[in-house]
Amino acid sequence: MSEQKFITKILHNPFLKEDPHGSLHMPVYENVAFEFKSAEDIELAFQRKKPAHMYSRISNPTIEAFEQRIRAVTDAAGVVALSSGMAAISNVILAVAGEGDNIVTSKHLFGNTYSLFASTLKDWGLETRFTDLTQVDKIEPLIDAKTKAIFFETVTNPQLEVVDIKALSKLAKAKNILLIADTTLTPPYAFKAKDFGVDIEVLSSTKYISGGATSVGGVIIDNGIYDWRRNPKFEKDAKALGPFTFINRLRRNVYRNLGSCISPHNAFLQSVGLETLPLRLDVSCANALRIAEFLEGESQIKSVHYPGLKSSKYFEIAEKQFGKRSGGLLTFDLASKEECFKFLNGLKLIRRATNLNDNRTLILHPASTIFCEYDTALKKEMNVRETMIRLSVGIEDVDDLIADMKTALEGV
Ligand SMILES: *Cc1c(COP(=O)(O)O)cnc(C)c1O
Repeated sequence: MSEQKFITKILHNPFLKEDPHGSLHMPVYENVAFEFKSAEDIELAFQRKKPAHMYSRISNPTIEAFEQRIRAVTDAAGVVALSSGMAAISNVILAVAGEGDNIVTSKHLFGNTYSLFASTLKDWGLETRFTDLTQVDKIEPLIDAKTKAIFFETVTNPQLEVVDIKALSKLAKAKNILLIADTTLTPPYAFKAKDFGVDIEVLSSTKYISGGATSVGGVIIDNGIYDWRRNPKFEKDAKALGPFTFINRLRRNVYRNLGSCISPHNAFLQSVGLETLPLRLDVSCANALRIAEFLEGESQIKSVHYPGLKSSKYFEIAEKQFGKRSGGLLTFDLASKEECFKFLNGLKLIRRATNLNDNRTLILHPASTIFCEYDTALKKEMNVRETMIRLSVGIEDVDDLIADMKTALEGV
């Protein structure tokens, strides 16, 4: 039989342990503890000689089924689901770096991720070196013996910048450091990170995977291409655990000790969301392109940014990496903040809300919301403009969305 495609694998990935009633959905195991037949059995479980669920902060069958579905479609060595996208990012960084170490990234990042690096982790003695990741020759001089990873977003939120991932991977390999990607805007199905040399993927499953914006969650994916024997922090474990080193260590240390688990109920919701990810993502990407093309033709719109647009400077690299699936997020500029607010207030169908990749189309003025805590100079460095609107395109009929935007533009 030929290899199954993404959606077939998601729908038919077997549960590790069958439900005794033959339920076609992995049931929601809303429990904390699991019982053992004997004292010897529970000892073996704690010693990890006999794999078993013991306590739901560490692992749980419903959460495991969600993780295994993602593992099946990514060919990853291991997957861990967490309470949020931010939990996924912070767990990975805390697992690979400590006091005195440094991470190289860009200021073109999701606002809370920037805050995690520039403030929270800084207070714990972890340095972040910010640079322009689109210019690979600028990165190398920043890497030293204490550099543990390069961190980037596949499509940055909200700058919609796209880096050359293979070039980053080549550099990371040469320097024996990790390449960590936030793939929230281009999740598995849009982008196979493993084929581009991404060692570890983190993503907010709150977004495309949950789909209906039903629940907050995050995912860590170890693609199994990094040789953990080459990493001083992990080399001891790597002799026994090989490609499973990182996920194992995470579960027995940072993930377990910080208590970052997702609830079984949320894992169930996101697992259901995953079943229709390919259908929703294709519609949302096609809608985003149609809307970007429409906006380019409107005289009131000063500029439109979408990597899938032929006029985008990232078009070619985006197509190489994501095919026709550059995501459902786009930005555009009006003449002023006042015009942006008038436009937002004139919409009847599109919702003013701070989320993305909901089934519904959502709109936001980033400078006055997600980035409001940053001063004008920093916003400029982050390329977060007062005149910029961010649109997360959903799966509605695209003509209805364009009609709503046309009416709102008339009122500007
Ligand atoms: C939303 C988002 C996050 C954070 O995810 P949460 O699930 O809200 O914690 C991280 N990165 C990107 C690119 C995001 O859009």
